[in-house]
Amino acid sequence: QEAPPEAVLDGLDAEQRAAASTLTGPLCILAGAGTGKTRAITHRIAYGVRAGVYDPHRVLAVTFTARAAAEMRSRLAALGAPGVQARTFHAAALRQLQYFWPMTIGGTLPQILDYKIKLLAEAAKRLRMTTDRAGLRDFASEIEWAKVSTLTPEGYLTQAKDREAPAGVDHQAFARLYQAYEDIKEDRHLMDFEDVLLFTVGMLESDERVAAQVRQQYRHFIVDEYQDVSPLQQRLLDLWLGGRDELCVVGDAAQTIYSFTGATPDYLLTFRRRYPNADVVKLVRDYRSTPEVVKLANTLLADRRPGGEAPWPAPLQLISQRAAGPAAEVTEHADDDAEASWVAEKVAEATKAGTPLSEIAVLYRTNGQSQVLEQALATAGISYQLRGSERFFSRPEVREGIAALRTSSLIAEDSVDSVPDAVRGVLSSIGWSREAPSSAGARRERWESLAALVSLAERMDAERAGLTLKTFIGELDERSAAQHAPTVEGVTLASLHSAKGLEWEAVFLVGLCEGLMPITFAQTQRELDEERRLLYVGITRAKTLLYLSSAAARHPGGRGRRKSSRFLIPLRKELGLEAPTRRIAPGSGKLSVNAAARKRKAAVCAGCGEVLTVGAEISRRRCAECPPRYDEEAFESLRAWRLSYSKELGLPAFM
Ligand code: ATP
Ligand code: MG
Repeated sequence: QEAPPEAVLDGLDAEQRAAASTLTGPLCILAGAGTGKTRAITHRIAYGVRAGVYDPHRVLAVTFTARAAAEMRSRLAALGAPGVQARTFHAAALRQLQYFWPMTIGGTLPQILDYKIKLLAEAAKRLRMTTDRAGLRDFASEIEWAKVSTLTPEGYLTQAKDREAPAGVDHQAFARLYQAYEDIKEDRHLMDFEDVLLFTVGMLESDERVAAQVRQQYRHFIVDEYQDVSPLQQRLLDLWLGGRDELCVVGDAAQTIYSFTGATPDYLLTFRRRYPNADVVKLVRDYRSTPEVVKLANTLLADRRPGGEAPWPAPLQLISQRAAGPAAEVTEHADDDAEASWVAEKVAEATKAGTPLSEIAVLYRTNGQSQVLEQALATAGISYQLRGSERFFSRPEVREGIAALRTSSLIAEDSVDSVPDAVRGVLSSIGWSREAPSSAGARRERWESLAALVSLAERMDAERAGLTLKTFIGELDERSAAQHAPTVEGVTLASLHSAKGLEWEAVFLVGLCEGLMPITFAQTQRELDEERRLLYVGITRAKTLLYLSSAAARHPGGRGRRKSSRFLIPLRKELGLEAPTRRIAPGSGKLSVNAAARKRKAAVCAGCGEVLTVGAEISRRRCAECPPRYDEEAFESLRAWRLSYSKELGLPAFM
């Protein structure tokens, strides 16, 4: 006998229950990290479906990353509400474009442009503008910002006057470049990522029939991570709604971390003003983290200097529901290598104490930081995964592996050795071996994916008597259709930006030094506030164990001298730790040289204080080891972000 729909509400606290049982919109859930926002909306959808109030096909849940969307789909299926669409804005929009394009615009949908820079270089050449790669990247970011802010080149000229134009050009020149880029793109029948949303918006605004059909299709809208919605996404959402208010939004303004892409928490914060009849539910009980972790998260937010210009409402104080745990560890290391080896040691220690590898994450500010960590983990023989389980079944090696298994199951008599043995045998025919490669990189990633297939076979074999290779392949096919990736037993290496919404037992936040956290180019109060929020997101990913570390230099004996992050000061105080009087100096004696140079007003690197010698990038006042002023690092984050979209869409890697 099936459980009553109300059973879905079990396991929710009173406020979560109130939210989950309010099946009509508008509804706004405002709450801090780990308070069960995502859990509440997932249960709300499941409850609505099971109570017969929602037709699952008429529900559109929008989440921020492909990983979160996949997670929500699988949770909904487990709660007895399969068939609900949970997608990113881009994925949902692209589906609508694909469907309506032929009947509205006609012809084929433009191809997605996978490399903006090349096109921009052409546009610059056409205008006889001289610029370098860094300049082009600046332009690309600015164009993205303009587009998600729904500014055309003309609109940019009139409405972005207060904004600093990209280095080396004025607003006029930038607007011309932007226009040339758009022209070339159109000539070649291409569209960029922003166009996916812009075209959908355009189609819905200009064609009543399309708008009516889309509105007919979707009745209930749910948006998770609403604090990071861009004006363009909001416009799309408004068009989907078409004046209706069957909308539930969930967010935490203190976790706004994508404003560099045009996202803004304003929509979240003014929800009540736009929908005066909205129900607003606040959650403060933190179910994820221990009181120790929660205390640090609260401290970090409370420490913010008043008067910052960024939107930042009085932070909701989180109250942990969990038993006391260990205090966070704060450590400093001589250089990145030492820090990475320490991480590897601590990971080994945690696993020995019973924490599975899949419950451990190492998070960093820029993707460039992963390499040294990969190497240290590989050397220590610890499995790790860089990409999470996103699009697992689309990975070339996984497809190749499954194809080989299928062929073998067709030709081999059922003798089929145990299934795990057979799987190992077949995979070794395509180059897999039991031993993990001890070096980091693509080979290692390929190995990890195939190892996940082997360990899935092992698990299934232990669980099901009489497992055959054919039933194993059947299981893989089912999982592939449901995008249900096998859990990869490995430490997760991820950027802070991509860790949003996720959680692990043990979290390492590495590279907490000035220049990386906050990142060098964060200069204004607004930018610094966003860095602080990013660290807040990082801290609140931890359930129990939290490690905060920094390294004084990039390389062993390296010249760059990095100070530990300003954000660590209140955290150390909270933990009762002395402020470090002296860093573990990589190359002693440098200090006096720098001090002398500064006295002479010689050029010193604005990143690390190193004296700039000829050959260093004196024009940028940055030494070769310090991140340049232009947003290379932001670009990396952006790239990771884009990549998660392109994976969701099944597109070639972007940029
Ligand atoms: P974030 O802001 O990081 O996205 P969130 O508010 O969406 O966090 P969830 O991810 O939904 O929080 O929940 C955090 C953790 O707490 C999850 O492991 C979830 O299962 C657990 N949790 C939430 N509510 C409850 C509850 N009422 N009882 C037990 N566990 C809960
Ligand atoms: Mg969440």
